[in-house]
Amino acid sequence: MTERIFNFSAGPAVLPEPVLKKAQADLFALPGVGMSVLEISHRSAAFEQIIKEAEEDLRKLIGIPDNYKVLFLQGGASLQFTMVPMNLLPKGASADYILTGSWGQGAIKEAKKLGTVREAATTADTNFNRLPQAADIKLDPQAAYVHFTSNETIFGVEFQEEPVSSDIPLVCDMSSNFISRPIDVAKYGLIYAGAQKNAGPAGATIVIVRDDLLERSPEGIPAMLDYENLAKNGSMYNTPPCFAIYICGLVFKWALNDLGGLEKIAAANQEKASLLYKAIDASDGYYRGHAESNCRSLMNVTFRLPSEELEKKFIKEATAAGLDGLKGHRSVGGLRASIYNAFPKAGVEKLVEFMADFQKQN
Ligand SMILES: *Cc1c(COP(=O)(O)O)cnc(C)c1O
Repeated sequence: MTERIFNFSAGPAVLPEPVLKKAQADLFALPGVGMSVLEISHRSAAFEQIIKEAEEDLRKLIGIPDNYKVLFLQGGASLQFTMVPMNLLPKGASADYILTGSWGQGAIKEAKKLGTVREAATTADTNFNRLPQAADIKLDPQAAYVHFTSNETIFGVEFQEEPVSSDIPLVCDMSSNFISRPIDVAKYGLIYAGAQKNAGPAGATIVIVRDDLLERSPEGIPAMLDYENLAKNGSMYNTPPCFAIYICGLVFKWALNDLGGLEKIAAANQEKASLLYKAIDASDGYYRGHAESNCRSLMNVTFRLPSEELEKKFIKEATAAGLDGLKGHRSVGGLRASIYNAFPKAGVEKLVEFMADFQKQN
């Protein structure tokens, strides 16, 4: 098969076609280098330029202030569940976590192995179909940091703005809505994101960390888990994930030059998601969204059908129609349409049409 189908996978997820084509064209030999990016030393001038440009483009895209470092690491967002408390949670201190889904649970589980953790708020009682109100978030003023997940990929709930504003450093797992809309980095102490949702392929994890927090990294922690050490070495303490960084760099250029930056990207994402939510809301209850309407994710649209049997049938027929990856996560059931930056509007339109037909026939 050489034709592309519509890929609704939650991650690794669809990449921009121009990025794939550029990578394909330059894979055999990078222009002017005569070797592929897979084969060159990470210490070579060619790769130095690739990682430098990736960082510069990301800084431009988001507007990252100078007092923040950008790191390209490995180990996925999951390793950040460990690295954040290992570096930012001093002995005897406590960290606050706002729990709105499975990824937050993962982050808390790892942090508890390293120190004291408080749940500042949780929405577990309604199977994470909503977000806490500001008044329900009880911060410990002494907390070393407060952690939240800006978009819970599995449940499909997304904060449209930061859930708290305080002097406590804000740490955010932004894996599944990274570069999907403008953000004010200055409100954050640390942001991390596994690349494979919205920024590139699996293998690279992006960390944006404020300089003063680097000083918290305790002496004697493993070098590969030490933000200060990794920052000092420009993400090249050891061999970085060169190819993944190269693709992320192409994605950042595409986001800047082809899409025109985060304002425009956010508008396009809003448009795609509202097509789908409108279809759900107009179905007389045949399709039911998992998330409450005011918490709906623009990236991961989660919904159910009247029965599990119909859900299975839907997925089977949708897959046959070239709509792939719609099966929801088992903890929510139903369906999930992941429609990241690179997911085309035409695919959303096709799904909406398919939903109407399926409802008519079933
Ligand atoms: C996918 C995801 C993760 C896990 O990412 P890995 O890179 O597989 O470790 C963590 N948090 C969120 C919000 C995610 O969407």
